[in-house]
Amino acid sequence: MTLPKVTTPTFKIKLPTSGKEIKLRPFLVKEEKIIMLAVQAGGPDDILNAIKDVIRNCTFDDIDVDTLSTIDIEYIFLRLRIMSRGSLVNLQFKCNHVIKEKQPDGREIDTECGHITKLDFDLETVEVKVPDEYNTTIVLDKKQNIGVVMKPPTYSSFYKLRDLVDETKSIADRYDIFLDFIDYVFDGTTIYKDFTREELKDFIESLSNENYAKIKNFFNTLPKLSAKLHICCSKCKNQSDITLEGLQNFLD
Ligand SMILES: [Zn+2]
Repeated sequence: MTLPKVTTPTFKIKLPTSGKEIKLRPFLVKEEKIIMLAVQAGGPDDILNAIKDVIRNCTFDDIDVDTLSTIDIEYIFLRLRIMSRGSLVNLQFKCNHVIKEKQPDGREIDTECGHITKLDFDLETVEVKVPDEYNTTIVLDKKQNIGVVMKPPTYSSFYKLRDLVDETKSIADRYDIFLDFIDYVFDGTTIYKDFTREELKDFIESLSNENYAKIKNFFNTLPKLSAKLHICCSKCKNQSDITLEGLQNFLD
């Protein structure tokens, strides 16, 4: 016999990058299960896949999770977390303040406090921080108005950026990473979308170091979830202000 269905409330949010409005419902038991299993498995890719699965389940609109930018994904998950389990999370911080510690023989030595302070943190204070320099359009030649338009990383492509610092990858591969993030090239009269990877590679390789650095710097200016916290160590009473960035730092 088919059992009755309990209805769940829905919420609307606006995506930070496009302003597009989407409808969400809170996590249900099945999504809690997906998250628990991923946390148990423990790998970064397990968590990533769980976040994507949960978002796929809890959204109604025709959004393609694989093409959403990382900031959109993180923001959706943050709002889902708040509407499903409330906005308070319990975070822990290790104090790295240097204190004097008395030894049994009476001498005092400098040592790191190391005390762990627990803190109830309100997720409603997390903001989407867009750096002033963030711009998907990068002008490489002002005179001729030649430039590129970048694609903000998606969760899948973001992980390619790890290869930038991966010493096991060849230098050639590491130089080619940026090709995946270039949406199109333009000049004063034309937008070039239809090019082969080889053509784009030639284009990038013909850039000056200064222009190459501009493209590389794009990834340092991406919008991020960010919050400022004031922490007072409950052992040594040292006070510090810290900024937390990125979804994983806000989840308990
Ligand atoms: Zn301390």
